[in-house]
Amino acid sequence: MFSVTALGELLIDFTDAGISPAGQKLFERNPGGAPANVLVALERLGKSTAFIGKVGADMHGDFLRATLVTTDVNCDGLITDPNYFTTLAFVALSEEGERTFSFARKPGADTRLAPEEIRTDIIEKSRVFHVGSLSLTDEPARSATIAALKAAKNAGCILSYDPNYRASLWDNPEVASVQMQSIVEYMDLVKINEEETTLLTGHDDPAQAAEALLAKGVKVACVTLGGEGVLVATKEGVAMVPAFTVEAVDTTGAGDSFWGGFLCALLDSGADVADISLEDVKTCARFGNAVASLCVRRRGGIPAMPTLDEVESVLS
Ligand code: ADP
Repeated sequence: MFSVTALGELLIDFTDAGISPAGQKLFERNPGGAPANVLVALERLGKSTAFIGKVGADMHGDFLRATLVTTDVNCDGLITDPNYFTTLAFVALSEEGERTFSFARKPGADTRLAPEEIRTDIIEKSRVFHVGSLSLTDEPARSATIAALKAAKNAGCILSYDPNYRASLWDNPEVASVQMQSIVEYMDLVKINEEETTLLTGHDDPAQAAEALLAKGVKVACVTLGGEGVLVATKEGVAMVPAFTVEAVDTTGAGDSFWGGFLCALLDSGADVADISLEDVKTCARFGNAVASLCVRRRGGIPAMPTLDEVESVLS
């Protein structure tokens, strides 16, 4: 049994790391892809997870696989495809720490996953099935994602979605909006951030955006609001769950660590998602905020994910 299986982007981030003594721009290689970050967060919290996706037969694909295997994420459903390169992204940082992505080698291996390559046996053994958005940008990965969602729904999994929108991935925001919205109808849980509210729902206001998601059949909607915390919504109503006050050093992976924590607490609660109370959702969000508060205090995404002991000491 797996607590959570995820499908979606798996890529390398080359992040701006300043200027060398010789005056040359330096980039630091990091494993990336939001769904994988969520799984690593869950593994650190003691949950069993699996990843479904595709990398190229190159040093970057090997590095990604090794990163996940080292963290105990099951990679039986991760295919190495000799015909494509692993997706690479270069990340520029503004003075305020804003990250701008530019993708190289597009389409990368992770967008080449085909429906018949999906390990439905892994999905069927999972309680939660989580997807990201990069797999929606190109065929055949878009069809593979839809096929996987149908398999997960039939297997009785809880379906979870974080669009993790990156402007440079889509030709234009209208196309992104349509493709992202096309899978909302499958979802039990949707987590978005402030920048995604309009794209996914047409509403700028977080509460209205969350309510629009519920109107489409989503059971729990979360809109993360950075250092302010998260707005949560169920059919019972909307509530704000404040973030923990910490000195944020690097917000890479903040949303992913929050969602790993949220899913961990949801699984532990044993609640029926179709009927979960707003109080229970607030408790899950508080746990997610605690995980994210530890993540933002350290540099990096995957290396910054906290252990269960660390989270419990924040909560006590
Ligand atoms: P994303 O990384 O998707 O843009 P947010 O920036 O909204 O997501 O942050 C996600 C979560 O991370 C927040 O809901 C909060 O729990 C936590 N977080 C982010 N920034 C801070 C901060 N400065 N202080 C404390 N917690 C933070």
